[in-house]
Formats: sequence, C-alpha cells, structure tokens
Amino acid sequence: MRAWQVVTPGPMGTGPLRAAELPVPEPGPGQVRLRVDACGVCRTDLHLAEGDLGPHRPRTVPGHEVVGRVDAIGPGVALAPDTAVAPDTDAATPPSVEPGAEGLLGAVDSLGAAGSLGAADVGVGVGPRGVRLGDRLGVAWLASTDGTCVYCARGAENLCPASTYTGWDVDGGYAEYVCVRADYAYRLPTGYSDAELAPLLCAGIVGYRALRRAELPPGGRLGIYGFGASAHLAAQVAIAQGARVHVLTRSARAQALALELGAASASGAYDAPPEPLDAAVLFAPVGELVPVALAALDRGGTLSVAGIHLSDIPPLVYADHLFQERDLRSTTANTRADGAEFLAIAAEHRLAVTVSPYPLAAADRALGDLAADRVTGAAVLLP
Ligand SMILES: [Zn+2]
Ligand SMILES: [Zn+2]
Repeated sequence: MRAWQVVTPGPMGTGPLRAAELPVPEPGPGQVRLRVDACGVCRTDLHLAEGDLGPHRPRTVPGHEVVGRVDAIGPGVALAPDTAVAPDTDAATPPSVEPGAEGLLGAVDSLGAAGSLGAADVGVGVGPRGVRLGDRLGVAWLASTDGTCVYCARGAENLCPASTYTGWDVDGGYAEYVCVRADYAYRLPTGYSDAELAPLLCAGIVGYRALRRAELPPGGRLGIYGFGASAHLAAQVAIAQGARVHVLTRSARAQALALELGAASASGAYDAPPEPLDAAVLFAPVGELVPVALAALDRGGTLSVAGIHLSDIPPLVYADHLFQERDLRSTTANTRADGAEFLAIAAEHRLAVTVSPYPLAAADRALGDLAADRVTGAAVLLP
C-alpha cells in the first residue's frame, strides 16, 4: 500500500516525510483494519515531522484523524450478530467497499432505523452490538492505555504513563490502510462527509477537552488564541452553548472565518479583547501568547493551553498574570470519554467543518502549508 513515513525528523524544507510502499497491515487480536477514506493533518504531525516531538520508533506512519471502513476483523473482536460474512484477513484480497458507502452502512445496520445512527450510537469502541465489514469508524490519537494504573483507575487515561499514540507509537493514517484496537475506535455521527469527520477526531476532541478545562461559566466570555482546525470547532461548541467568543489570531482569513462562524469579535493575536475574559484557550503553539492571554483574563479566569507542544513561555509577572486567582493549565491528549462526549455534541449540532483537501500523494505539501500557515480550517488527505 502507499504510505508516508517520518524518516529523519527536521524542518519541512529538508523532506522529513518520505513516501513508501508498505505491506498492508494485518489486524492483530482485538483489532480491526480500516481502508482509509480520509485522514486529517494535525499540527502534532508537523511537530513529529519536524522533531519538536522526538520519534518513539523509526519510520512511523503519521496520521491520527482517520476515517475508514472496516475491511478486515482480527481475532477476538465482537462480530455483529447477523454478520454472514466471515472475517477476511487476507490482505491480498481486501473486500471492496464503494466510496461514499453511507447507503451500504445504513443497509447493513440492523439497529439503526432507516440507516441512521442516532447520537446514542455515536461513541467509543465497536460496542456490544459488534462490528461488521463496511462499518465506518474513526481512529484518534490515543491508541491504547494499560487500563490498570492509578490514572486509568480514576478516569484520567489521558495521563496513563503506558499510553501509546496513533502515528507516534503505532502506524497511523497517512496510508491506504490502518489497524486500530476496536475498543479505541469511534463510531461516528452521520450527516458529515468522511473529510469533515476526520478533523473531529483530534482537532475536535482535544479542542473540546481544552475548552472544558478552561471552565467557562455558562454564558461566559471566552477568548480563543489562534484559529486553526481545533479552534474553529471548539469555538462553535462554545457558541452553541451560549458563550460570547472573541477570537485573537494574526491571520486575516482566519479572522473572517471566525466572524462567519459567529464570533463576537476577531482581532490580532496580541490585541486586547474588547472585554475581559472569563476563560481563554491558547491554540497557537506560541508561548509568548501565555502572558498576553493571562493579562486579558478577568479575576478568577482560567487560561487553558490546548497544544501538545508550546514554544518557551517568557517570564510571568505574578501581579499582572496570575494574582487575583487566574489559573494557567495544560491539556494532555484526551480520554475516550471526551471523544464520545464531543462526537455526541457533533451529532446533535451540525458543526461547520472547514476542510482543505489534499491527495494522499501530497501529504508533504499539506504539512508544508500547515507549517507556513497557508491552511484555512483543517487539511485532510484523501486517497
Ligand atoms: Zn494507565
Ligand atoms: Zn492531533
């Protein structure tokens, strides 16, 4: 199969990503294999390609916002009760699923009336009803945890020291096929194209966790610093829940998109918002913006940093940035419960997902464009 690998991490100009011809992976116990229909391009992929995040293993295929159809089922995965077709793990003859097979998914779905998955069916894992060939599933950043440590035990599996990540520890979706643990895959809302669903799986879910960690009070005033794929989804969730959202970003196109999506104001990243903020989320990976955003908070406000990587934070001045009980907190990946919660919101509120499509063959160009801030919304690779 065609795929991309991070070979020698470094600036995009040095070609850290290489196209490769790899064997189609076989699903192991508890896994399913998906034929990839769309894979989002996340800023974390850029951090991995450029070496801001060191490799966990050589030549890993990046990509952790994957939408695909089940085309092989590994041992130990619950099969849907009326699945007539035996699981076929023969990589040489993958069963074919026609593109745009929503109709097929609906037709073979014994539980979803009229082929529709309601919000109740959206969520994590293939669930007790089992999986069948052709099911549309999503693959996200969190690939596995041990399920036994103190963090997992208290529902904070995002902090599990033994966690593994798609596209970092295990091969991801910059490829034609990907394998995923069935209990870490997501069932996805209907009413979205594959390309629109892909960015929901990291940009959407992690942005949602960052938003929740900002503890915005109902009807509160929210600042959003940076307005890429993740921010444009989190902003819509906040607006749908009654927040007044101020977007602060350097890109004029992103400012225009913010206003289009219902933001109360849009201005430069270093500008003061038109009113003090109850909460803010920093999506731009720019440490220099931390004191700027803290200074924009009202008393008791919280700044939540969304990214996995941030450039250095300049010295903070206690009186200007933290006193009056302003809080600064990070966001680390997400739990599967965050994912299920966010996808349920996406099933109920149709989010506008701005997508810039690229062919799989142009993954390096997509990452280069992301590095140069030339992408509006979310870049998505299509086979
Ligand atoms: Zn754990
Ligand atoms: Zn991501």
